Parts: sequence; C-alpha cells; structure tokens
Amino acid sequence: MTDGDPLAHFWKDATCTEPKSCTKCGAIEGSAVGHVWKEATCTSPKTCSVCNLTEGKALGHIVPEIETISKATCSIDGETRGVCTSCGETVSERIPATEEHDYSKWKVVSEATCSEKGVQIRKCSVCEKEETSEIAKLDHKDDNNWVVSKSPTAKTAGEKSTHCKICGTIVQTESFELGLEEKNAYKSAESYLSFMAFSRSGLIKQLQFEGYSKDAATVAVDCLDVDWEKQAVKSAQNYLSFTAFSKSGLVGQLKFEGFSQEEAEKAVESLNVDWKEQAVKSAQNYLSFMSFSRSGLISQLKFEGFSKEEAEYAADQVGY
Ligand SMILES: [Zn+2]
Ligand SMILES: [Zn+2]
Ligand SMILES: [Zn+2]
Ligand SMILES: [Zn+2]
Ligand SMILES: [Zn+2]
Repeated sequence: MTDGDPLAHFWKDATCTEPKSCTKCGAIEGSAVGHVWKEATCTSPKTCSVCNLTEGKALGHIVPEIETISKATCSIDGETRGVCTSCGETVSERIPATEEHDYSKWKVVSEATCSEKGVQIRKCSVCEKEETSEIAKLDHKDDNNWVVSKSPTAKTAGEKSTHCKICGTIVQTESFELGLEEKNAYKSAESYLSFMAFSRSGLIKQLQFEGYSKDAATVAVDCLDVDWEKQAVKSAQNYLSFTAFSKSGLVGQLKFEGFSQEEAEKAVESLNVDWKEQAVKSAQNYLSFMSFSRSGLISQLKFEGFSKEEAEYAADQVGY
C-alpha cells in the first residue's frame, strides 16, 4: 500500500460518542469508546475526563456552622467563614455593605436666594461619607411697582415692568400704548423739537398752551427720547447767536426757560465762550441806543452779571 492508493482508508480514531471511521468512504470499525465519568464534587459537576462533557450541577459545599468574621457596615463589606463537611475546604463568603448610612440632619452651607441656589451637606456618623444637595432658588419678591422699561411713541407700544425687591430682576412685563390725546401731544412735541430747543418743563408748558392737558403733555414729553442737557446747550447757543450774555446771565436765562440749575450750568460750562468778548458786545449794544458814563456802563454790565474785571475790560475796549 502506497500514498495515494485509492483503496486505502483514512481512519479517524474512535471518540467517546463515535466509533473509528474513514473520513473518505465513511466505513466504520468497532464502536464508540463511551465517556469516562468523574463524579460531581462540591465545586464541579459530573464531568467526562476525555471530552469534558458535564452532566448536572456541582453539589455545592455543605457548611453546617457559619462564623461571622466581620459584619457588613454601611460602607464596608463583611465576611463569614465555615468548613465544608464534604470536602473539608474553608469556605468564606462576602456580605455586601448595606449602603444604609446614618446621616445627620442637613446642614446649610450657603442659603438659597432668589438669584442663586443654595447648598446643604450631611454626613454619615459611621463612615463619615458626605452627601451634598442643592437648595432650590427662592421666588423673587415682586415690588408691584410698574416702571416704564421701554417708552412708547405715537406709533409704537411701550413696556412697563415690575422688579424683584431683592435682586432687581424683572418679574412682570406688560406692553402699553399711549392714549389718543397723549399720542397727539407726542407728535406735537416732536414737531416743536424739530425746530427749537426746549427744556422739559418748557415743552410741557408749550403743549398745555396748545390745549393739551397737563397730564397728557407730561406723559408725552416723558416718553420722548430727548437729552435735556443737549437741549440746554442748543438753547444757550441759540441765545448767544443773537445777543450777548454774561455767564451768570445766560444761566439765568436758561433757568427762566425751565432748565434746572444743573442743566443750565453744565450747558454754559460746556460752551467755548470768551466772556470778556461778550461784555464788549453787550457794552456796544447799550451804547447803540443810550449814552453812559464809564462808571454807569460798568455798573450796567455788572448788573447784567459780568464781573468787575469783564466790565472794566469792556469799558476800555469801547473807548472809555
Ligand atoms: Zn475508507
Ligand atoms: Zn467523554
Ligand atoms: Zn465542599
Ligand atoms: Zn456610612
Ligand atoms: Zn430676586
């Protein structure tokens, strides 16, 4: 018989469950070997030592006396031990930690406010494990004081809001429109401001003069987007364009127009005016329709609010 002999079988050995067979032609010889069983023990089931097939379950240890080595606590596992009467092995078992901590009462670390959450903490008296939790934000305290937060115009609605007494956050917002009379007063006020400078009170008076009620005129004027300080500056420039003023005289004139002392002073201070020149112009103006002695001219100029120095300078300049 040589390799490649077409008559030769290709034998595969018998196993626990199958007889010796030819992989080429399927011929069989003898019978299966059968399993070689090893009996079940405490820890492994009945097993064939040849093919490792198992049957049933491990028997399990038999431990009639269990000793507690350490008790489980809230955070540490416990342990028991005992000797197996069937295999003689010492068997130990883990008892999982209970996780039932003995917490103290919550202690506040930081109080909640209406703008920030608070924090509280508690601690287990056994294992000292700490637990923190948030304290919900408090409600805002509504001041119920409606304040205009966006001014309406003749064409667009405005907004008014209430705020939190503690942190100032907007609590409620409502939109509102001007009434009909207020809308008309608003339009009228806009038109006045387009060709002239006004103080707040001056503009309200002007609208009242036009027949609007004081309330409607006031609401309308307060809704305008106007910088009253700039109005004071414009008004001051306008006065200086047609006549001469002393510094205090111009402040007085602006106050007469309804500007506050502060608005008037700021406006006059912001102008680049040569007050001595103003005194000269004023002197020339007086002399154009009256005659004066030097001292008479100087006291007239001082009466107009010029300083002694400015008045004397003017008198010098006009030839006295
Ligand atoms: Zn064969
Ligand atoms: Zn087997
Ligand atoms: Zn055992
Ligand atoms: Zn604990
Ligand atoms: Zn608040």
